[in-house]
Amino acid sequence: MINTNIRIGHGFDVHKFSAEFDPKKPLMLAGFQLDEPYSLIAHSDGDVVLHALCDALLGAAALGDIGQHFPDTDTNLAGIDSKEILKSVLNLLEDGGFGIVNIDITAVAQVPKLSPSRVDMLDSLCRLTGLDRGRVNLKATTTERMGYIGREEGIACHCVALIGLV
Ligand code: MG
Repeated sequence: MINTNIRIGHGFDVHKFSAEFDPKKPLMLAGFQLDEPYSLIAHSDGDVVLHALCDALLGAAALGDIGQHFPDTDTNLAGIDSKEILKSVLNLLEDGGFGIVNIDITAVAQVPKLSPSRVDMLDSLCRLTGLDRGRVNLKATTTERMGYIGREEGIACHCVALIGLV
């Protein structure tokens, strides 16, 4: 075993669009509400970006996954704001003596176009994590119309996070 104080984690999440836009369930990505006529089916607010981020952070700290900490069978968590989930995950990291070095996120969506909201999503991520812009990256891509994302069935997100013992 190599004794180092940094840990890497990866997170992936996907949520399916509901058949019709539900104004009570606006599209939330990275804690930012996009002005787009899409809703995601989820026990929570369906923020795939924050879910992938939480899983990357939990993975890096060897703390399992978001489903263990926030089971979708828990009726008390129905409709939970994913910013609250991230807050809890950040607390768990802090309790473990960890701080975030950097995060790199890739959101995968055919629709809607994410680039117009990229800066708002980045600002939101920095605000929520307390990281400066030099430590947070958010990329957006399509799947060139292939597969479930290409068929406009939902949105996916990957995240890699590096954390270190502080
Ligand atoms: Mg999720």
